[in-house]
Amino acid sequence: MNKVVIIGGGLVGSLLAIFLAKLGLIIDIYEKRPDMRKSNSGGGRSINLVISDRGWKALAAAGIEAEIQKLCIPVYGRMTHDIKSKQTFLPYSSLKRAIYSVSRRELNERLITCAEEHSNVTFHFDHSCESVDHNSSTAYFINTESNNKIVVKGGVIFGADGANSMVRKSLLTKENLTAFGAESYASEEPIDHGYKELIIPANADGSWKLDKNALHIWPRKKYMLMALANLDGGFTCTLFFPFKGKPSFESIKDERDLMAFFNETFPDVVALMPTLVSDYFDNPSSSLMIVKCFPWTYQDKIALIGDAAHAIVPFYGEGMNCGFEDCRVLYELLEEHGMDWTKVLRSYELLRKPNGDAIADLSLRNFIEMRDLVSDPTFLLRKKIESKIYKKHPEKWVPLYSQVKFSDIPYSEALKESYRQDKIMEKVMSRNDIEEMWDSDEVEKEIVELL
Ligand SMILES: Cc1cc2nc3c(=O)[nH]c(=O)nc-3n(C[C@H](O)[C@H](O)[C@H](O)COP(=O)(O)OP(=O)(O)OC[C@H]3O[C@@H](n4cnc5c(N)ncnc54)[C@H](O)[C@@H]3O)c2cc1C
Repeated sequence: MNKVVIIGGGLVGSLLAIFLAKLGLIIDIYEKRPDMRKSNSGGGRSINLVISDRGWKALAAAGIEAEIQKLCIPVYGRMTHDIKSKQTFLPYSSLKRAIYSVSRRELNERLITCAEEHSNVTFHFDHSCESVDHNSSTAYFINTESNNKIVVKGGVIFGADGANSMVRKSLLTKENLTAFGAESYASEEPIDHGYKELIIPANADGSWKLDKNALHIWPRKKYMLMALANLDGGFTCTLFFPFKGKPSFESIKDERDLMAFFNETFPDVVALMPTLVSDYFDNPSSSLMIVKCFPWTYQDKIALIGDAAHAIVPFYGEGMNCGFEDCRVLYELLEEHGMDWTKVLRSYELLRKPNGDAIADLSLRNFIEMRDLVSDPTFLLRKKIESKIYKKHPEKWVPLYSQVKFSDIPYSEALKESYRQDKIMEKVMSRNDIEEMWDSDEVEKEIVELL
């Protein structure tokens, strides 16, 4: 079978098309929005993203790493801003490794263009999938311009249609879950926090108002503000905030509430955000959800990929990277097994599902680290100790952040290893003299012996 239908021309669907095109398959990709390269309204969320090692490995395997690098700014660590506006830089790695900030929209546009350069890829914009029939490999669309209904039959169908995937909802109905057996389930879990995009524009000469090579965080326990640089000299900021309670999206009702809250909580930001009031009240407060489900595939007919299979909270910045890794792993399986789709899809699901679950758990944990711990002295001391051990014994200890962001160790293994590291560090940090002794040979020896 050499015909493939991809539903969703977002980040993952577009990259998947490039991989499959390299194998000579015929790909039709259906996207519900208009072509974002031609239309402002079709752009969707413009929040920027970070690309980490897994993302780069996939982009390199697809042959478009250099093309995407042109859109990126390296980010070497976190710059925390405390309530007194003091900034503290915490590098991501003692080996000076970076993650890369990129605009979601620019990345998606470039991926679509790269996919279209393959003559065997056809995009169908303004086509919204209404349902799929997994038994007959049939997808049902509505053309949102003409309102015509379209039926596409045959070929392997990939659901790359994001967290609210129609493909997933069609495949994993109550009835089908019962038929698929005891292991099958589908859960969509919203979290109490949402997010809103705010902007720090460039200086008049086009320069950045903050260090562009850092991810800026204003951690405030129950919520946080984050900023990542754009190529145009500006920063895209994301306020992660509860929907209800005080303070929350609900409790900030007008300009006075907003300015009082920002002046008190993020005092150094206010002067940097001339459009704060209009951005805050004009931009939506978007929700966040964790999706876990099984199965991800059905015979040789259908597969879920990217957020459609495993939507996670964005606090590790890994959702897209994980989706890109899905594409690379699938491509490698197709290279290994040829077009034996039943075998390939089953292997893909078994390899990727535990990793989707693990990064979902890791991402929730990182929310606590980012909003709560990055300003906590005990946490910072622990990071210093870990960094020293990593530098001196890199074969024995790789900090969790480096495993997730700077390696392609399966997420499930990184999660397991993190539990082992936590136990060791809890023991070491419980020493009464740890603040004086942390840099000593004695503490180093204790850790190495525990490893
Ligand atoms: C605030 C925030 C920050 C984030 N930061 C990072 C980060 O730094 N790094 C990172 O790796 N990840 C990050 N993520 C996660 C990342 O955005 C997602 O993991 C990624 O977008 C998933 O790509 P996708 O293609 O699977 O889904 P999407 O990007 O959601 O794309 C799905 C596509 O399918 C289309 N579609 C939907 N329904 C239909 C339908 N019925 N018919 C046809 N088409 C349809 C949509 O229009 C869209 O184009 C972040 C997420 C959020 C919310």
